[in-house]
Amino acid sequence: MLGSKTENTTAKTDLSKFKPKFKKELVHKDININTSSKTIEKDIEKKNSKRQHVKIEYEASASKMNKVMPGDWETVLENLREMRKNFNAPVDSMGCDKCQDENAVPEVMRYQTLLALMLSSQTKDEITHGAMTRLRKHGCTVENVLNTSDEELGKLIIPVGFWKSKVKCIKKTSEILKNHYNCDIPRTVEELCKLPGVGPKMAHLCMKTAWGEITGIGVDTHVHRISNRLGWAHSRTPEDTRKILEGWLPFEFWSEVNHLLVGFGQQICQPLKPQCSICLNHNICPYGIKHKNGSKKRH
Ligand code: SF4
Repeated sequence: MLGSKTENTTAKTDLSKFKPKFKKELVHKDININTSSKTIEKDIEKKNSKRQHVKIEYEASASKMNKVMPGDWETVLENLREMRKNFNAPVDSMGCDKCQDENAVPEVMRYQTLLALMLSSQTKDEITHGAMTRLRKHGCTVENVLNTSDEELGKLIIPVGFWKSKVKCIKKTSEILKNHYNCDIPRTVEELCKLPGVGPKMAHLCMKTAWGEITGIGVDTHVHRISNRLGWAHSRTPEDTRKILEGWLPFEFWSEVNHLLVGFGQQICQPLKPQCSICLNHNICPYGIKHKNGSKKRH
């Protein structure tokens, strides 16, 4: 069963029993990553006094969503589990939950989880895993990353997508973690989203992998695309898809749906040429039904 294996994987990296040693008020993600720490703190105080936090936005958005469940969704889910039962997609062996040094102390493992997620944006799992392997060999701790020059850090993570901006975000995030979290990572979605380069998708996946807490559905391009093909969502952005899915999908399935759909998107329901003919859902998937006669108009 996919569900049970996913839970096992999560349990392997479940660090929820470890509490951060130190917590302090966080900074906001809109900060200028080139500013000094003191300037950042002042900037944050100003912004925090004026802005709504992500949590408020997130809860309000999800609660307003249509909770009508798509037809056959349970059958579709069972078929997805069946098609993913071999766990042989790139995400299964090289996903962000496979990038940590399992012999490291819990806070270092959590930091490595966060970094893997930051690197994974717009980047294939194989590339992210390779970069994290080099980073771990170099010494992937907050202190060590801060003591590494931008140039050297860049060389370690190339060829991840947008590596230059990721170097800056990693450096600034590491500085915040050192100054405000005693080199650990935040334990809430709201606080994680305030870190430079961290958005809701990363935050929810980080909460699951690093802290063992399910706080939302991590929606990347695979989950967004497949959800729309299946009719599970009709949306323009991954963030809208997340809100829609969280509106109707029972909470008990939130944990597995990202991993399930990402691997499915890597192997069968690819962006340009989905293999609908071998998909168990081709008779109940709106996209599969529409294109079963070989229509060229695909997206
Ligand atoms: S039928 Fe085609 S589009 Fe629908 S889920 Fe299967 S592979 Fe994807």
